[in-house]
Amino acid sequence: MDLNGIGYSNIRLPNDSSSYIYTYNQYINTFPEEVFIHEYLHSLERILKERNYDIPNLHDYEIYGYKEQRLIGLKDWYYDYMTCNITTANGNKIGLDDIVYTLTPPAESDFKYATEVEFNEEPGNIIEEIKGLFKNILNIFGIK
Ligand SMILES: [Zn+2]
Repeated sequence: MDLNGIGYSNIRLPNDSSSYIYTYNQYINTFPEEVFIHEYLHSLERILKERNYDIPNLHDYEIYGYKEQRLIGLKDWYYDYMTCNITTANGNKIGLDDIVYTLTPPAESDFKYATEVEFNEEPGNIIEEIKGLFKNILNIFGIK
């Protein structure tokens, strides 16, 4: 996701410890880690796109014939996405270039216009979100 121009992943989990999301159960949920895999893959997707690699969008699974399945969700898509094993209409294999696994994690110097995100003050509505966006743009240019 993108908040005020900063890429981030924010995963909210239910407070209810009995939620199925915390449970591996062969009848209802065999891939509880899916949300974490999904957000992590967005990070890898972003790393390659920022380096101008031509890779499929993580959300475009249906374009390539994948479907969300009962119990395992999009596990097949994620597997093929990570192993560059998605077959296109002309028979080519696409997905994440494996160079992504050799790139170092970002350093502080990679964030030229880093802004501390106050997650306790997440925008409650679109108006606040837009106001926050302008506030941060003004801060970047040193205008208060
Ligand atoms: Zn997503």
